[in-house]
Amino acid sequence: SKKPVRVAVTGAAGQIGYALLFRIASGEMLGKDQPVILQLLEIPAEKAQNALKGVIMELEDCAFPLLAGIEAHSDPMQAFKDTDYALLVGARPRGPGMERADLLAANAQIFTAQGKALNAVASRNVKVLVVGNPANTNAYIAMKSAPDLPRENFTAMLRLDHNRAASQIAHKLGVPVGDIEKLAVWGNHSPTMYADYRFAQVNGKPVKDAINDQDWNANVFLPTVGKRGAAIIEARGLSSAASAANAAIDHMHDWALGTNGKWVTMGIPSNGDYGIPKDVMFGFPVTTEGGKYSVVQGLEIDAFSQGRIDKTLAELQGEADAVKHLL
Ligand code: NDP
Repeated sequence: SKKPVRVAVTGAAGQIGYALLFRIASGEMLGKDQPVILQLLEIPAEKAQNALKGVIMELEDCAFPLLAGIEAHSDPMQAFKDTDYALLVGARPRGPGMERADLLAANAQIFTAQGKALNAVASRNVKVLVVGNPANTNAYIAMKSAPDLPRENFTAMLRLDHNRAASQIAHKLGVPVGDIEKLAVWGNHSPTMYADYRFAQVNGKPVKDAINDQDWNANVFLPTVGKRGAAIIEARGLSSAASAANAAIDHMHDWALGTNGKWVTMGIPSNGDYGIPKDVMFGFPVTTEGGKYSVVQGLEIDAFSQGRIDKTLAELQGEADAVKHLL
């Protein structure tokens, strides 16, 4: 049988953590033949550490055959030791009266420390996924704080936007979501993200021809996908957690195990593709193979799409500027 791999998860006692850990431990992320050791990080506060103990008791009580070990930590230098995968879920939520700049600064502190810890103690091949918001900028900060690790090992979660977009399109066309392929989501995990179905196919035929309604695209589809998180808070009284955890599983699963040519969206440090400046942590359509992702090349960007891409890029550059002095 395979040697266990180490999976670190931060914010492990939070909502998303609760929807995530059991699926990692059951093999849904890395395969039903891959044992895992969970290295869980929570803030030192007694309440969080106690909640983490409770989650660990439940993990034990599942008796998952693939769960080869569980550790609880309050120090990233221990939680990230030799880790092969790191899911950075914990982040500072916006408190009452907190300005956007305060939020960025509070998170910059967390993700600088975590980037440094990964740099010092993680596996040199660690695959890092940032879920905690602002996810792209937090991932950028962690990457910049880990100069000894390959920059391409740092990614941000755009997969929830991708899955939301696929589901809206399937709904509009009255087909199962699995029939939708070649979707792209560009940019920031925020309402400015640009979900782009110009290349998408439904059972091998262009989605664009099947929908053929630019008004629906601009005024229904994009706002629905962009504001989906807020709609779920409104309906549920709590933020989306299971769907966010599911997207994290999808992202890591596909990165580790390959997409067989299928397009998925990942937030990755730009290599300059599509005019996005190097290192900007940007959502791109990618395919993956052998643990590596490659950006889908050669897509034509029309004027409407360029406008949307410019807007989400400007937002990301604004976030990066706001934390520049902290790096
Ligand atoms: P959640 O588990 O609901 O959310 C965690 C993070 O994921 C938030 O930043 C949240 O952003 C983000 N997120 C990304 N996508 C989504 C989405 N689609 N829907 C909802 N959230 C999304 O938060 P909890 O407060 O329940 O738990 C967070 C835990 O993290 C706490 O237990 C806290 O103690 C811990 N924490 C740990 C840290 C550490 O390990 N060093 C540092 C800071 C916190 P948004 O805020 O925009 O909803």
